[in-house]
Amino acid sequence: MNMNIACISGDGIGPEIVAEAKKVLDKVSSVYGHEISYTDVLMGGCSIDVNGVPLTDETIEICKNSDAVLMGSIGGNTSTSPWYKLEPSKRPEAGLLKLRKSLNLFANLRPAVLYPQLRGACPLKEEISAAGFDMLIMRELTGGLYFGERKTYEENGMMKAVDTLTYTEEEIRRIAVKGFEIAKVRRGKVTSVDKANVLDSSRLWRKIVNEVAEDYPDVEVEHMLVDNCAMQLVKDPAQFDVILTENMFGDILSDEASMVTGSIGMLASASMNDTSFGLYEPSHGSAPDIAGLNVANPLATIISAAMMLKYSFGLHTESEAIEKAISSVLDQGYRTGDIMSEGMKKVSCSEMGDLVVANIK
Ligand code: NAD
Repeated sequence: MNMNIACISGDGIGPEIVAEAKKVLDKVSSVYGHEISYTDVLMGGCSIDVNGVPLTDETIEICKNSDAVLMGSIGGNTSTSPWYKLEPSKRPEAGLLKLRKSLNLFANLRPAVLYPQLRGACPLKEEISAAGFDMLIMRELTGGLYFGERKTYEENGMMKAVDTLTYTEEEIRRIAVKGFEIAKVRRGKVTSVDKANVLDSSRLWRKIVNEVAEDYPDVEVEHMLVDNCAMQLVKDPAQFDVILTENMFGDILSDEASMVTGSIGMLASASMNDTSFGLYEPSHGSAPDIAGLNVANPLATIISAAMMLKYSFGLHTESEAIEKAISSVLDQGYRTGDIMSEGMKKVSCSEMGDLVVANIK
């Protein structure tokens, strides 16, 4: 297969971690007989330095014309970097928001996996973490409360603020289809999370999810109220496969799910549109405090690259080869500083990339 990938290394540790992900993709391609071509583009602070803006039309076009986008992270130290003296619409993060919008990336996928080798970092009780967990939060990204009409005004001498939570049938259907499609290639279970006991938008959500479920008889579907889901994530996270939910619930639940893994350097993410196109990036930021030191953990970016192979290119064996290689490296006791524990062998960012490459079979 030929894969045409736009590559945004970005700022801070971005170039270091993306270099390692590329090494791993190159090794997988040579083992399994694929061709990858990368087009490097600027976004974020590095684009401000060169172009005066965080995202150019040229970068958007290159991303649109590629099969997928691999990204490191963008942004700098928000207290000291000159990028944050610019008006908000010209800062690094504005570039990412505009890119997501331009590419119509409405589905955000965040896996939260507890690797058995990193169980010690999990803040949950041992009897809960012993079962391990491997879930994926599928969050609607471009609708709901964050995009509804809002206003603050005075009424009868009292300040009043209104936010509006709106979803159309079409917006719910397209994310539900994504959720069921992805559950099909995982363990075949969707937990749809809403607040249908109170909210009309949630009642419509539940109705449409049930309609979509009829097309996926092999996928089990259950509905859970968001307050219960927040409790279940810390009580019994192993029960979840795909959690499908709207924008604000997903924002909160995905942070909760990632915190229970305990390891920020291991958390990948993908944002997709209604085709197989997606933007793949670690969940963490550009870590300016450790930039240029070759100590960052590249695994979240490498796992994001594995997600890209699975979800954008349908290359499941190749994606699993990366996951297995990471597991072997952890079994062998290698750790970057952020996931280091007693008795393990500390390695640099580039050494971790080399180790994953060496373990790809
Ligand atoms: P951060 O995630 O960059 O860092 C938080 C802490 O985690 C730091 O101590 C950092 O050293 C550590 N860390 C993060 N990734 C690591 C890795 N791979 N290996 C080892 N340690 C790692 O969050 P922050 O400091 O709040 O933000 C820094 C910059 O990143 C800001 O400009 C912020 O806006 C930006 N940011 C970008 C994205 C993105 O590109 N999508 C996401 C979040 C934050």
